[in-house]
Amino acid sequence: MEYVSTRGNAPALDFEGVTLAGLASDGGLYVPREWPRFTPEQIADMAGLSYAELAVRVMLPFVGTSLTEERLRELCSEAYGRFAHAAVTPLKQLDEQQWLLELFHGPTLAFKDVALQLLGRLFEEFLSRSDDRLTIVGATSGDTGSAAIDAVAGRERIDIFMLHPKGRVSEVQRRQMTTVKAPNVHNIAIEGSFDDAQAMVKRMFGDTVMTTRFHISAVNSINWARLMAQVVYYFASALQLGAPERKVAFSVPTGNFGDVFAGYVAAQMGLPIERLIVATNVNDILHRALSAGDYSAGTVTPTAAPSMDIQVSSNFERLLFDCGGRDGLALAEQMRGFEASKAMRLTNSQREGAAALITSARADATEMTQAMAWAARECGEVIDPHTAIGLHAARAAGLPREIPVVTLATAHPAKFPDAVERATGQRPPLPTRVGDLFDREERYTELPGTYEAVAAYVAEHATPSA
Ligand SMILES: *Cc1c(COP(=O)(O)O)cnc(C)c1O
Repeated sequence: MEYVSTRGNAPALDFEGVTLAGLASDGGLYVPREWPRFTPEQIADMAGLSYAELAVRVMLPFVGTSLTEERLRELCSEAYGRFAHAAVTPLKQLDEQQWLLELFHGPTLAFKDVALQLLGRLFEEFLSRSDDRLTIVGATSGDTGSAAIDAVAGRERIDIFMLHPKGRVSEVQRRQMTTVKAPNVHNIAIEGSFDDAQAMVKRMFGDTVMTTRFHISAVNSINWARLMAQVVYYFASALQLGAPERKVAFSVPTGNFGDVFAGYVAAQMGLPIERLIVATNVNDILHRALSAGDYSAGTVTPTAAPSMDIQVSSNFERLLFDCGGRDGLALAEQMRGFEASKAMRLTNSQREGAAALITSARADATEMTQAMAWAARECGEVIDPHTAIGLHAARAAGLPREIPVVTLATAHPAKFPDAVERATGQRPPLPTRVGDLFDREERYTELPGTYEAVAAYVAEHATPSA
């Protein structure tokens, strides 16, 4: 399988290459040159497989010759063996039409574990072949940081530096990062906002003093391997609800457009999906883009669903590329315009291509609270604020009765206990697997919000690449 850049001007790479590269050298994102496709018979044949075995079937065409089937199977069994539920991503019924797909049974209680547990193992596998090392540098507003740290803690060939804005992540989120003791884990609290931290990370990728000494890589969802791993649970849940004979719709709490793009990929591979609903909070750039063609960034409003408080959704570029005729050079031009003015119009083919499968909805704070209250009162299910935004959109979609609607439950409610308690009157306890989080010692470094301070710290503590 070959991968090409959405901006048409970077070398094509194989799966191993795109996994280690993250971003393409022309600033674009990697996508497969064409979508592998399953027949309905092949999909029917996947019913009843274990999650790890299903993951092998779905991912093998993307992996190509970069891993043997046997090795991929071993990595999937290890990664999904770390989940606290035997079904890995169990599906729960809410009423005659609505379902919840629980993606939070991994070690750090958010759906990001599903992809990052595998990605950590893929990194180590590919690095050992070339006897290389990786320096992962990331910025987090919460869930990505802890999931990435858990996935690479203790791995010999990787150092991870995770920046978080001091005082602006929840205590559970901070402790999930700062109580990990492995020597290759470096938490940095910087003075400033998440955007400041993110800007420093981006600057480091373009800093040749750093990139010639260290093999710097990213773990956010611009990395293709993360999206690939997320395609699997669309298959898993649709098969349980009767695919390929019956069509299913999905409602996806969306921020960076990675999770919902994985659903788009599942549809391209032949999974019969009736509709993908992009659910946003009041930070609704994607809702405006999909409903009116207007992709223009405003300022971020903080909400009770912080992992969706985002204005620019990196993975949206992958959808625009695929729906807009796969013209990389034209898209590069369009994205340059967006980067200059923070606004652009979608082309007609981009709008029509997206609309064939995707609609969008926006939930404000009241609608989010009502969805949490409804699930608790009518179904006995305590859900988190991100999931509630998805559930609001799912119930408002007005799909025909015979179409099951699956809301992706992206975080465990115990990650956001205050918002959940306000909406439902119940304070969700932390699962026992993270139960002593508040007794463990924290370890992190505080740095001023300047690029020079962060770069000097990384240079001092990272191991140069081969
Ligand atoms: C990251 C995250 C999201 C948004 O997912 P994207 O792939 O960025 O669209 C939604 N909910 C939770 C809990 C998250 O951690």
